[in-house]
Amino acid sequence: MKIFQEGDKSKAFCSHCANTVGTTFVRRDVPFSDGKGLAKNILVGTCDTCGLTVSIPAQSTPAISKARKESTGSIEVNLPAVFVDVLDYAAFAIDSRASTEFRKTVLTFFMHRAAHDTNAVERLRGMRLVADERYPTRRGTARRRLSMKVSASLLKEVQSLERQTAMNTTDLVKSMVCVVQDDVLTMPRPELLAQLRVISAISA
Ligand SMILES: [Zn+2]
Repeated sequence: MKIFQEGDKSKAFCSHCANTVGTTFVRRDVPFSDGKGLAKNILVGTCDTCGLTVSIPAQSTPAISKARKESTGSIEVNLPAVFVDVLDYAAFAIDSRASTEFRKTVLTFFMHRAAHDTNAVERLRGMRLVADERYPTRRGTARRRLSMKVSASLLKEVQSLERQTAMNTTDLVKSMVCVVQDDVLTMPRPELLAQLRVISAISA
């Protein structure tokens, strides 16, 4: 079995480029398929043309399963059911074969991305109002529970987003679902979709 290091070259199929491409190994954070957090600093193969993660070498498997065992935090929210519908619809648009667990991966991905995006706080604050306009809550509105196990580091990122946006977890998730709706369903961003499809494929 070949052991790879950062900077090593290989080949793999890239779904974004729809071709067999040259790849370069680098270390990246990889979200778990079930949405229960991220494995940090994992060696992955990236497409030399578009930069997306397209392969995970066997040697990275132990680090991924270790990170999974260490996932300790949890996010629990009780939302109007329509928000879970939107999340499921987005997950379906990304990968129609993905299980409903993939909704958690999508949410995890967006939370992690927002935690590393300086414009995200502003956008999420704006989305707080958009969420209420899009999906006004009436008396008797059906609600659903969303419960996710996440890594300690992702939990910290979510808590930091809550502080910066001055929102509780429920409002943060509602705002984030509206971001997901815009970026995946309303005005799909191809490079983002391709990245999410790879995550879905790797982790299925
Ligand atoms: Zn590519």
